[in-house]
Amino acid sequence: MNNKISLIGKAIQKKFSLFGINKSREITRLVFEISKRDSIDFISVINSIQETKYEKVKNFLLEKRYPKSYAISKKNNFYLPDLDIDDNNKANLNLSKFNPKNVYYTKEVINSHLYNRIKIFYPNSNFVEIENLKNFLKENKFSIQKYNNRKENLFLINEKYDFFKPCPCSKNVKSCAYSILNIGYGCLYECSYCFLQGYQNVAGIILPCNLVDFLSIEKIKPVNNKMFFLPRVGSGEFTDSLIFDDITLFSYDIVKFFKDNKNISFEFKTKSVNIDNLLKIGGQENIVVSWSINTKEMIQENEHCTPQLEERLKAAQKCAKAGYSVGFHFDPVILYSNWKQGYKKTIEEIFDFIDIKYIKWISIGSLRMVSSLKKIIENRFVDNKILDEELLLSYDNKLRYEENTRVKIYKYLVEEIKKKNKDIVVYLCMENSGIWNKIF
Ligand code: SF4
Repeated sequence: MNNKISLIGKAIQKKFSLFGINKSREITRLVFEISKRDSIDFISVINSIQETKYEKVKNFLLEKRYPKSYAISKKNNFYLPDLDIDDNNKANLNLSKFNPKNVYYTKEVINSHLYNRIKIFYPNSNFVEIENLKNFLKENKFSIQKYNNRKENLFLINEKYDFFKPCPCSKNVKSCAYSILNIGYGCLYECSYCFLQGYQNVAGIILPCNLVDFLSIEKIKPVNNKMFFLPRVGSGEFTDSLIFDDITLFSYDIVKFFKDNKNISFEFKTKSVNIDNLLKIGGQENIVVSWSINTKEMIQENEHCTPQLEERLKAAQKCAKAGYSVGFHFDPVILYSNWKQGYKKTIEEIFDFIDIKYIKWISIGSLRMVSSLKKIIENRFVDNKILDEELLLSYDNKLRYEENTRVKIYKYLVEEIKKKNKDIVVYLCMENSGIWNKIF
């Protein structure tokens, strides 16, 4: 890919020999993005430019690249970082069973249940004692190429500080007053939009061996929020809540704790169907198992290695029968040519599978990402289509669809959900009060 980028760069240099490095880089990116989105040769994009002055050339290309938002957006909302795509950085989309080559552990975990279970699960793994994770990371520098190796390395540690905390949310957005129980770090799935690929600095999966120490009413102190009747805590921020549950058995301790604490809602957020333990234990109304959900097309295109929509809905149905509440998160909602039909169909399927009385909440969040993730996605998922849409720098410096588009998305989905039941709790994820007020 870098070869193609360098050819575009050379062609730009030839046509606009007076442009300096930074100007050429911006123009190269715009030409690249237009030719990728429209599946046309970059030469024909370059040949279509009649202007010669930098500002005019840039404006011409911006208008072509952002036809819906060009006229209504400020120029600094268009994010044009330098273009550097290395084919060696591509994501590994082979679906393989988790079978870590190496298990790194700290001395303090060797008497824990989890450490001993891992010994039984993975007898052929190479077990290596480390002093602590921080020093290990200093000595083993992380790079995005190593992110693919995370399935090979498991870290077992005692978590000291980060078990329970308010959801970091995002700057200037309306909070849904959520608190996070952090039951691990890292995921085996490969969603093209996943924030972890830009956030994680360790080529491995980290599991804490001392979860039970933190399941106490002195340490779990969630915030109240009128919208949800009960204060809410959930896992699934830095890992999928259930993906490792057959190995960790965390659900046993969590369900037991929240069965005894009915005044708090606990949410397992997942895309997995690893629900056997939950079914064995049996649920209670304040314990919610929720699925991130998308249209069949978007799951196929972007949520690699994950269970399909129908598998997720069947798992939700089983959990509801076992006494749990269930929830759904349309997150991220992604724009594509048939997005309206796709999301309408998904909403219908949810209600075909699940009796409304079990659904605790449905959230909606449109595609968003910290700006630095753009370069990582285009490196790891070279053929992705999610970046072809018009994503602009927003109030919290994240890339989002333009505000009118987001309002259109939310109005449509909320209306379709409310047609099924007007009382169902629907909320927006990471949106500002202005947008909330336009929707509810
Ligand atoms: S399931 Fe969630 S954490 Fe896992 S890859 Fe997908 S977005 Fe990331």
